[in-house]
Amino acid sequence: MKSSNFALMAFFAHPDDEAFGTGGTLAKYAAEGCDVYLVTATRGEAGEVVVPDLTTPANLPHVREEELRCACEIYGIHSPRFLDSPDGLLPIIHQGQAVAKLVRVIRELKPQVLITFGPDGIYGHYDHIAVHRWATIAYELAADPACFPDQLDDSCELHQVSKLYFRVLSDERINALSESGERPAVMMDGVPFNIVGRPNDEITTVIDVTDYVAAKLRGLQCHVSQIGYDIPFAESAEEVLEQPWFRQETYTLGRSKVGWPEQMETDLFDALR
Ligand SMILES: [Zn+2]
Repeated sequence: MKSSNFALMAFFAHPDDEAFGTGGTLAKYAAEGCDVYLVTATRGEAGEVVVPDLTTPANLPHVREEELRCACEIYGIHSPRFLDSPDGLLPIIHQGQAVAKLVRVIRELKPQVLITFGPDGIYGHYDHIAVHRWATIAYELAADPACFPDQLDDSCELHQVSKLYFRVLSDERINALSESGERPAVMMDGVPFNIVGRPNDEITTVIDVTDYVAAKLRGLQCHVSQIGYDIPFAESAEEVLEQPWFRQETYTLGRSKVGWPEQMETDLFDALR
């Protein structure tokens, strides 16, 4: 089957979560004709004010929503959708209501492939871990006629996602960061939270986004309110475009209804075409 027959949905916690690890993948599949959707649980209103000239705590959610719209336009995907959940509180809000919202979106968009965080949330961010849990549960429930039957109508139908992928980083990438002198950690409120890598044998899928690194970089640069004007993990835009790690996006196939790969996949729609 051609890509134009497929829908791909990425689900993350915050505007900018998509940029480093999946921006190239989203741009690639959109360019190939796939329907690509990005859904975030929040508008990132609990994020830090990194650029005081640009944001205040009050306008942060508005600015971050606009930044995500900018990034989606550059990736060439549909406008972002939001679950309107409160940033920073995802593990403690009503889990049933949150999962029901996500199930509804899956039933409306009907993706064959769903991407989300792995259980480590890249650096243990509790919102990321909550999103991983919701997506893993919703993957099963969206196809279950006993779950949230009141949602069902002409546009919201039972749907079985075929493959659920976790966006992950390899141990090799983390080691390379350490060797280059970078601290492989994300700062939250002044505290460095270590980025978690996965061993090679857990990585099932590597997407080569070499042809889409320019869009990936421009999408990343939309998120000025969170990353500032400098490129994280690189000296310059020119340098990051040349980095092998920027050209490969790595995943673990976490759930599948269409079997398991016997060798490294290079296409999220393997076994579906
Ligand atoms: Zn995040």
